[in-house]
Amino acid sequence: MIKKFFIDVGHGGSTGAYYDNIHEDDLNLGIALQFRRILLEYSDMITNDPNRDYTQFEFVIDRLTDKKMDYMKDRVDFANKYGAEALVSIHANASPSNVNAKGFNIFYFDGSPRSKILAYCLEARLKMSNKVPFMQAVHTDKDTAIGGIGVLRFTKMPAALVEMGFMTNEPDLIKMQDSQFQLDVARAIFYGTTDFLSIK
Ligand SMILES: [Zn+2]
Repeated sequence: MIKKFFIDVGHGGSTGAYYDNIHEDDLNLGIALQFRRILLEYSDMITNDPNRDYTQFEFVIDRLTDKKMDYMKDRVDFANKYGAEALVSIHANASPSNVNAKGFNIFYFDGSPRSKILAYCLEARLKMSNKVPFMQAVHTDKDTAIGGIGVLRFTKMPAALVEMGFMTNEPDLIKMQDSQFQLDVARAIFYGTTDFLSIK
């Protein structure tokens, strides 16, 4: 039985936050492109991990280019039609009023207990890579869900949104452009999601 998951890459087409000549959507795309590395590692995972059958997983990424997307049509509907059993959305945070705010945030919709479990699985893997996240429940109703939060609210499957750092914090902004950091985050998302899908 194939278990599918969906990677939603926040924004696109130079939308989202913008600081220091850097667009948030490009940072998000940087993480998405690292998933290609993970696919190359896939055959090693299959042979080296006797505890898990990685051939049972399949995933799609909703954008691998800098294209503008409609969150309802291109993300929510796409994920629902694909039949994913989990969705992870990738974003970068910004806090212009507090440039000291830094680090990870993981959001999930408060009304979905299984989304909370997915968020915990992601948190555990991000902690393993010493990238300590901070979990937050999102309280929203149908009428107020917009943008990134819409994928938490309107998708049929458990969903979590990872904010990988703050663009308004200089060390975070430098880190988020580093390919090793991006690969670490992509791996944590991959393993955290497959951990979640492996829960009986
Ligand atoms: Zn965003």
